Amino acid sequence: MKAVLFEKFQEAPRLVTLDDPSPETHGVVLKVAATGVCRSDWHGWMGHDSDIELPHVPGHELAGVVAAVGRDVTRWKVGDKVTVPFICGCGSCPECAAGHQQVCLNQEQPGFTHWGSFAEYVAIHQADLNLVALPEGMAFATAASLGCRFATSFRAVIDQGKVSAGQWVAVHGCGGVGLSAVMIASAAGANVIGVDLDPAKLDLAKDLGAVAVINGQEADVPAAIQEITRGGAHVSLDALGHPVTMTNSILGLRPRGKHIQVGLMLGEHAAPAIPMPKIVGQEIELLGSHGMQAHRYGAMLDMVASGKLDPSRLVGDQISLAEAPEALMNMDKFQSVGATVITRF
Ligand SMILES: [Zn+2]
Ligand SMILES: [Zn+2]
Repeated sequence: MKAVLFEKFQEAPRLVTLDDPSPETHGVVLKVAATGVCRSDWHGWMGHDSDIELPHVPGHELAGVVAAVGRDVTRWKVGDKVTVPFICGCGSCPECAAGHQQVCLNQEQPGFTHWGSFAEYVAIHQADLNLVALPEGMAFATAASLGCRFATSFRAVIDQGKVSAGQWVAVHGCGGVGLSAVMIASAAGANVIGVDLDPAKLDLAKDLGAVAVINGQEADVPAAIQEITRGGAHVSLDALGHPVTMTNSILGLRPRGKHIQVGLMLGEHAAPAIPMPKIVGQEIELLGSHGMQAHRYGAMLDMVASGKLDPSRLVGDQISLAEAPEALMNMDKFQSVGATVITRF
């Protein structure tokens, strides 16, 4: 198969030919139809992720068609169109038993713990637990964007934030995760404020339902949020993962508000200074949010099918596998408004 491989961190990945994977007894091999290029892939390529063993094939936001099935798999057959959460559960640890596969103790992540989907084929473990059937008519490029950004935002807003109608929700960072969160929180009935430095992303946030936007270059962000919301947001997300957006998110909350950290904080940002006096004095909740388990996809996909959510609006450039190395290396320098998806192999 054709695949994008890197042999050293921070060295240009190359398009190479590798042996096709074969499924484990409990797994499947998917023929990849679409795979997103994500900032997490860039973190992995930089060497920020201790799970990655070299040489490595990145890629974790994928959708495709089942091409081979292990003998113990009962729910899937060749030809099924599927996607998969970027965190796959093991099916046998206490967290999986409780339904929390997104924090599985022995989790597998294609593109991190094993070779991923910047390739014609990818192996997925524990297929009965982890695969999600695509609704009729959903484009592969749209489905690929669900597995990381959109599903992550759905869990952050709905399951962790428990956002409800009439609440104020601030979203810091209007990249793929943030814009997804704007759309999802708006669909849940919240009044959403989008924050970013890029006017184009703020315009898209408004199109997707934000009732107010703040350009962080022009305003004192926490003060602006406090003013718009008359006392602070009920729920606030750092969708970027940076000490500045994290701090602004916490300081923009009202008493007993919830800060949800969605953006990864790795490398030099792994141990940020947290404004603890406000956390204590105002009983602020700090919550992480980490992907979303396969069995929660149904609720999200029903909102897509009914038209309340439209993740296809967040798909940007569609590129070829040969263009993937360049796109990956530039992920930190330039983030286009929509998600870049590899759809030609
Ligand atoms: Zn991702
Ligand atoms: Zn598990």
